[in-house]
Amino acid sequence: MTQSHAGWKLENSYSQLPSLFFTPIDPNPVPTPEFVLFNEALADSLGLSSDALHSDEGAAIFAGNKVPEGSLPIAQAYAGHQFGNLTMLGDGRALLIGEQITPSNERFDIQLKGSGRTPFSRGGDGRAALGPMLREYVISEAMHALGIPTTRSLAVVKTGEDIIRETLLPGAVMTRVASSHLRFGTFQYAAGVEEGKELKALADYAIERHYPEIKEDENRYRSLLAKVIEKHASLIAKWQQVGFIHGVMNTDNMSICGETIDYGPCAFMDSYDPATVFSSIDAQGRYAYGNQPKIGGWNLARFAETLLPLLHEDQKKAVEIAQAEIEAYGRIYHEKWLSNMRGKLGLFRAEDGDEKLIEELLGLMKDHKSDFTNTFRMLTDGVKEEEGLFAAPEFKQWETKWQERLSSQSGSLEEAKKQMQQHNPVVIPRNHKVEEALEAAVRYDDYTVLTNLLEVLSRPYDYSTSKTSAYCIPPDPSNGRYRTF
Ligand code: AMP
Ligand code: MG
Ligand code: MG
Repeated sequence: MTQSHAGWKLENSYSQLPSLFFTPIDPNPVPTPEFVLFNEALADSLGLSSDALHSDEGAAIFAGNKVPEGSLPIAQAYAGHQFGNLTMLGDGRALLIGEQITPSNERFDIQLKGSGRTPFSRGGDGRAALGPMLREYVISEAMHALGIPTTRSLAVVKTGEDIIRETLLPGAVMTRVASSHLRFGTFQYAAGVEEGKELKALADYAIERHYPEIKEDENRYRSLLAKVIEKHASLIAKWQQVGFIHGVMNTDNMSICGETIDYGPCAFMDSYDPATVFSSIDAQGRYAYGNQPKIGGWNLARFAETLLPLLHEDQKKAVEIAQAEIEAYGRIYHEKWLSNMRGKLGLFRAEDGDEKLIEELLGLMKDHKSDFTNTFRMLTDGVKEEEGLFAAPEFKQWETKWQERLSSQSGSLEEAKKQMQQHNPVVIPRNHKVEEALEAAVRYDDYTVLTNLLEVLSRPYDYSTSKTSAYCIPPDPSNGRYRTF
């Protein structure tokens, strides 16, 4: 395979799967492609030339007006439980243009989002609005900098076309980069096909692509389930650690490789409350912060069900295997969560009573509506506010216990602080700061606010930055509850 001057080295392994998994389709051209964001660092790591691609030709490619060398664009088919109901879905406004092979021989899906209608569009227009695409770019890149597995954003291109939502909005195409777009919902789709050989083909493909180390295992499908469980336990524990609320944990938005995907209604929690929900469509709070671990288990159970025909010839035994693995999820998640929380409090080794200590603090934070990020940052810094939680006598009692626990461990306080700095971000993409940046960009075509925000978010654990900067200030409660759509 040759590499083009722009660095494209595309393969299309997904197209080797049975044809019911995808539809070949060309993107729909847009009137006037124009870059608004291009991620040079990511392009570099993919082996793509920023010089060649941050150009008119690149804008045409990332708008879907031109197909790069080696590309074989497809829309992927999948199903998914949306708020508990199983539905047939598929890429209704996205196209996989190929899999880029990087200089370090890794494989990443390059997907256009907002590239026009496909056979899976149902009633939709296949398009995306600029604001939400910028939002995905900002938050997914922030997640990456926070050290949380995620899809990434390579480019946002304005299309020069307005799209119809509640009002007319400028249209855009975003380029998403993912280790793959294999979803729990892809397996649900495959499991719905009578024959069974499609499911096996998909599972073998997933193993080959993401978990080659289990290929020779005695029961590799059981190993696949165990791997996916472990990845999701780890991922969700990381979300909890930084107060990330995904907002739409439908099974079509759960990735087999354990990356955060679909940044539609997500948002970061300000004041600590497990019941926090931002999404306007999540009326029941199904995907509230405190429910995420449990929903993760529910989603994994749906994934496990799809694998039953592969787990054992005897379906009774297959169910036992699936149940045993699913039961392990709760335990694995809990261990990871506890370990992350110990990290946030500077505790090196596990001790009885750690969980109680953590839960007591969280309880106090909830009572005092403490800002999640700033509270842990102030505990790290030792520079505390003289009001709210920190002024409360119950907190002082808690603090004494915590300090005793810190002093009793073998590592130094300095080391504990270092560990806390690695677990407690100084900055997160605060909702009001993200909104401010999007407003300047979308309404006034001013990208400086957004660029500055991206810069700050690229170093979330940098304790040398100013903690009083506007990026650290929680929203003014008088502005009401933040909503995502
Ligand atoms: P999501 O809630 O973002 O996971 O999307 C659920 C499904 O709706 C996916 O199949 C999307 O491709 C599809 N979809 C979302 N927006 C549009 C749109 N504007 N046009 C066509 N399909 C869409
Ligand atoms: Mg989605
Ligand atoms: Mg979405």
